[in-house]
Amino acid sequence: MTRETTRVAIIGAGPAGLLLGWALRRAGIDAVIVENRSVEYILARVRAGVLEQGSVDTLKRLGVGDGVATNGLIHDGIYLQFAGERHHVDFNELIGRTVTVYGQQAVVADLIDAHKHDGSPIYFESSDVAVHDIESPSPRVTFGHRGEEHDLHADFVVGADGFHGVCRPSIPSSALTAYERSYPYAWLGILATVPPSTDELIYCLHEDGFAMHSMRSMEVSRLYLQVDPSESIENWSDERIWDALHTRLGVPGWTLHEGEITEKSITPMRSFVTSTLNCGSLFLAGDAGHIVPPTGAKGLNSAIADVTILADALIDHYADDDVALRRYSDVALGRQWRIQQFSQWMTQMLHRHPGGSADHEFDYRSQLGQLDYTTSSTHAMRSLAEQYTGLPL
Ligand SMILES: Cc1cc2nc3c(=O)[nH]c(=O)nc-3n(C[C@H](O)[C@H](O)[C@H](O)COP(=O)(O)OP(=O)(O)OC[C@H]3O[C@@H](n4cnc5c(N)ncnc54)[C@H](O)[C@@H]3O)c2cc1C
Repeated sequence: MTRETTRVAIIGAGPAGLLLGWALRRAGIDAVIVENRSVEYILARVRAGVLEQGSVDTLKRLGVGDGVATNGLIHDGIYLQFAGERHHVDFNELIGRTVTVYGQQAVVADLIDAHKHDGSPIYFESSDVAVHDIESPSPRVTFGHRGEEHDLHADFVVGADGFHGVCRPSIPSSALTAYERSYPYAWLGILATVPPSTDELIYCLHEDGFAMHSMRSMEVSRLYLQVDPSESIENWSDERIWDALHTRLGVPGWTLHEGEITEKSITPMRSFVTSTLNCGSLFLAGDAGHIVPPTGAKGLNSAIADVTILADALIDHYADDDVALRRYSDVALGRQWRIQQFSQWMTQMLHRHPGGSADHEFDYRSQLGQLDYTTSSTHAMRSLAEQYTGLPL
């Protein structure tokens, strides 16, 4: 067994773990990252793509913002489409803020490059990762790596290991309550090699269900369709997907361009928040502590926000000031509940609720009323703009 010590042991090399490790190392605080997947797997994982202005500012402030500055696509607003009409909500005009389209894969690639360049210790492809003694001031992480057993001693362990990780379940159930809800719909998402048919994201409520046109670059489009959570991707040929996208997204005078579909998958939707992000010497950040349905584009941004708050708190701790670290869970969760509310609001406004009941038609017409108000009231649009472009930390 190899015994090692560090100040902060981070589980997970997703955006949360990589950014936290990077922020700490820049501040001269030792951190070791332990990840169970290979670097190739992580770099190929297709997920989020919209960065709040605050997230972009954080990446730039921490010296990992060159990629987003060079290749990110700045969007002034979004389109909301319903009842066959498309409406522009111009965030920049309303509140002087923007969002940037830059894939999560690219954020992760930039962070891995920075860590490699810096020689940071990251154990990819670790096995049997487990955390121990979290309620003591000397927690440990054990794991296997290239045939060797490791015993990593730290001052703190940070669980940045996503929703299915090992850190949250290691908190005694008496110390943690989970608040959650699932939704009766899922997203079928595709990546297609075709320039986007729109300059900004289109969120659309159609009688057949939600559809969305997003993008990853000027060459790659990302599109989504609302489907039943029990749907199987095998039932969706490329032709069927494009047909549904044409039907839902189509408006007179606009053309949706098709291209080769290089990735397609179905993702269920869930809202989930833990009652605490801290137990003893263990802190949770990102998806390990909370999940949102992707409609508000908040998952990746929340992970970045958590680790920004946590990195500053840990830096204060090593400068003999513990106030922020003690308040981390409350501060991050306070912000998170506002994000939960926004994500749920966007999701329920834009998805067709399952059919078959009298409520079904009532809900749809009520959603159209809500969208009509949201796109015609300056106050409503400013509120949307404020939340979509990102609440302050
Ligand atoms: C399919 C999919 C599509 C999504 N699309 C969007 C979107 O369009 N918009 C949006 O805003 N958000 C989206 N999200 C959410 C967003 O991607 C996440 O919120 C974001 O990845 C959170 O980052 P994280 O670092 O907290 O967690 P993760 O990215 O999940 O990273 C956790 C890391 O921990 C590792 N890990 C897990 N278990 C262990 C273990 N036992 N030991 C060691 N390492 C471990 C994982 O391999 C992973 O690398 C999507 C999520 C999924 C799953």
